[in-house]
Amino acid sequence: MISARILLVEDDPAIARSIIYTLERDGLTVTHSLLLSDARRQLAMRPPDVLILDVGLPDGSGLDLCREVRNSGSLPVLMLSAHGEEIDRVLGLELGADDYVSKPFSPRELLARVRGMLRRARMQAPAAAHSSGISPFDLDMPGQRVSLRGRPLNLTRREFGLLADLLRHRGRIRSREELLVSVWGADSDSTDRTVDTHIKTLRAKLQEAAPDHDYIVTHRGMGYCVE
Ligand code: CA
Repeated sequence: MISARILLVEDDPAIARSIIYTLERDGLTVTHSLLLSDARRQLAMRPPDVLILDVGLPDGSGLDLCREVRNSGSLPVLMLSAHGEEIDRVLGLELGADDYVSKPFSPRELLARVRGMLRRARMQAPAAAHSSGISPFDLDMPGQRVSLRGRPLNLTRREFGLLADLLRHRGRIRSREELLVSVWGADSDSTDRTVDTHIKTLRAKLQEAAPDHDYIVTHRGMGYCVE
């Protein structure tokens, strides 16, 4: 069995409990958020392997988070919605959810869907890794550790989040705003200046480990990129 990390965003305690019980009994690790704001923080800190997302949440619609996640990467998303929210089914799939179950559902059915998504993601992963070449970075997301050319880097949580985000979008320019949302969360008080400050310290640490190369490229007025 593949072990993996699941982020569950669900505000109904009974439904959340039965999902967590079923997934954990099957060897999966589940992090649970009751709110979108907390889910965004979790996603920035430790991106999971699958995101299970309720539609109706106390601080907004899961559909918004689904759209954000889709715009910023390829994390598989499974949407949950209450009975009768047929409109959300269409919307959810249009926004790029990978799968969908309507409440009430059996936890076993949900487990089967999650396992299917994990299998598909693993099958796609080797192809993606191959096309990007061999990375000098060795990123351990669950352990929040990273090494560059075999040398462990001593990064703060935010620096790690920034580097993980840039590596996830390798070759693409990430705006300060995108990095802020991804690493600090959409409702953070931090500013573009915060991103710049952390990029500066991150860059210094990378250069200490690999003085002959500048991995983070600044695109004036646009943002940052790892090439
Ligand atoms: Ca709900």
